[in-house]
Order: sequence, then C-alpha cells, then structure tokens
Amino acid sequence: MATRVWDYLPEYESERADILDAVETVFRSGQLVLGESVRSFEEEFAAYHGVRHCVGVDNGTNAVKLGLQALGVGRGDEVITVSNTAAPTVVAIDAVGATPVFTDVRADTYLMNVELVEAAITPRTRCLLPVHLYGQCVDMAPLERLAAAHGLVILEDCAQAHGARHHGRTAGSMGHAAAFSFYPTKVLGAYGDGGATITSDGDVERALRRLRYYGMEQTYYVVQTPGHNARLDEVQAEILRRKLSRLDRYIAGRRAVAARYAEGLAGTDLVLPETAAGNEHVYYLYVVRHPRRDEIIQALHAFDIHLNVSYPWPVHTMSGFAHLGYAPGSLPVTEALAGEIFSLPMYPSLPVESQERIITALLKVL
Ligand SMILES: *Cc1c(COP(=O)(O)O)cnc(C)c1O
Repeated sequence: MATRVWDYLPEYESERADILDAVETVFRSGQLVLGESVRSFEEEFAAYHGVRHCVGVDNGTNAVKLGLQALGVGRGDEVITVSNTAAPTVVAIDAVGATPVFTDVRADTYLMNVELVEAAITPRTRCLLPVHLYGQCVDMAPLERLAAAHGLVILEDCAQAHGARHHGRTAGSMGHAAAFSFYPTKVLGAYGDGGATITSDGDVERALRRLRYYGMEQTYYVVQTPGHNARLDEVQAEILRRKLSRLDRYIAGRRAVAARYAEGLAGTDLVLPETAAGNEHVYYLYVVRHPRRDEIIQALHAFDIHLNVSYPWPVHTMSGFAHLGYAPGSLPVTEALAGEIFSLPMYPSLPVESQERIITALLKVL
C-alpha cells in the first residue's frame, strides 16, 4: 500500500460520526453564515490560547493579511520575516502593499535567526513576522525587545504551530496578534479551508471583524474602510470546535510518531529535527536533512513511499518575488538547506505498521 506524507482518511474513519453530526448541527441551525458555531469556536479557540479575542476567517493567508491590516501595516511599510516559509506568508505581506524583508534562518532549527533581525530594521520597518515553522516557536524574547525598542508590532504566523509552547507560553499568545490556518493538513485541520487571527487587543479585534465583513461594523452597514469578504464558514467552524477538543490528543499522537522516528533512525547520517531550548514541538512536519536528498526520495518511491519537501524553493528565489532583488547567495543557510531537507510522513493517525515500513526502507536506502 502506498504511504503518503499526509492522509486524512484514517482520521475521518475514526471520527466520521462526530464530523457528520457537526455538519447536521449547522444545517439544522437555521443560520449558515456567522452563526453560533463560528461564535463558539472563536470563544473556545481564544480560551485555548489564553488570549481575549479570536476572529475566524476563510483561510490562513487571509488570517495573515487581515492581521497585518488590523495592526496598521500597509503600503510603504517593511515587514521582517523569513524566506524559508510557506509562500502564503509572503503573499499576504505583498497583498497589503508592504515589502517583505528576509532574514536568514538558523542552521539547527531552520527557523528565523533572531540575531540577524536588528540589522534588517530600517526607518520603514513596521512589523516583525516570525514564522513558527514545522511546529516549534521562534525565539521570541529578542524580538519582543526589538519591537519595544523600535516601536514595531509583532504578528506571529502560527499556521504550523497549533498548541506549540515556548517557555510555557502558547504559540499565538506572544505577539500583538497571531495568524492560524486550518488547512486540512495542519495540526488543527478543517474539512476544507479555514483560518483565524487572535489578539488580546480590543481595537485590533474590532478592525479584524470589520475587515472580514466588507469593512462594516455588522450592525450599521456602513463601510468606513473597504475590507474583504473573509468569513470563516459555519460548517468548518463546527467541525473545528469538535476537533479543538481533541487537539491535545492529536499533538500527543504526533509526538509519538516523532519519537518512533527518532528511535528508529538514530545512528544514521540523517539529520533529525532539533527542538530549541524552551520549546514544546508539535511536529506539524518531521523535517530531516541529508546531502543526497533527491536520491533518497527517488529510492523510497520504489517502496511506494512518497515524501515531500517543505520547501524546495525559498520564497526569495521565486520568480514572482524577483522584484525584491535578492540575488542567489543572499540567504546562504536558507538556500543550502532547501537542497537537502525533506519531510517524512507525519500525522497522528499514521498507522504504526506504515511507520515501521518507512523506517525499514530508510535504513536500507541510507
Ligand atoms: C499553510 C500556511 C499558511 C497559509 O494558510 P492557508 O490556509 O493555506 O491559506 C501561511 N503560513 C504558513 C507558515 C503556512 O504553513
């Protein structure tokens, strides 16, 4: 049987009754858009993170985009982030008219190298946008100090870090606002698209609610600043509520998969993921590194095991961002690791036998 890097069907089989009940609940509720389920999910998701507010939106890209706009980031502003991220982080910055500025990443965790951030600050810098990539957090204390010293806002991209912790704090509770995606593969995934932006700042919350609803305060139907239609779907919200109550279990399942990889692959020359001090990793992805990456992926195909690379093209090397002017070699760590990293299958319902097959195949190939 083929093993893919991600598969939701085993989970659906075990949760089918609850998922279908969620759909039925919404269809019977009499309110298909911005009803009880979105309202309840927003309350529960904010409470999970210990923040005051959550605004559900239609996807993670818009969670970043509306987050930036609600924090006052727009045309002419610079946003410091990384190139080793999912393209939507940067697409969202571009969409609000701001300019992404990339810092290189650390060679051990592949996350933002916060020591390089201060040198990237200019008079136009308005926002720091750390991406808690693969399931663990960027070192936040230095960013918080820089933000305070330079009057910047922090927007966390938490699309890969639901439930991750950093020195005891939850991913998403540390910045001025934080953006989440509920794309099906994510640690908390919907059965379709979804996203949310969370914050404890009431002004930011009100701006977010307007921005996702054409720019209107719902009750008055007057557009002050034109916004978007970026509402979280009621059916997805009800499914997400059900799944949020199981989030800690999903995370425990991912950690068990990671522990089996670490044990089975110890002693090989595969570089396994490292968890930075103070971090509790949720393993959205299990990213390993090897100089013969492409060969290994090819060889595993023969075993019907299909792996992914997240991400093969750093954003600054994509043709759509050529205008930003990053020459090859400008982010050496990011560029080097893009040629060597790959992701092993990772999801909580990954059958143990499949994982053993993957480990055995890897041991042969290595
Ligand atoms: C998935 C992801 C996004 C975008 O989320 P969508 O729901 O697919 O729009 C943004 N940032 C990161 C880091 C992601 O992994």
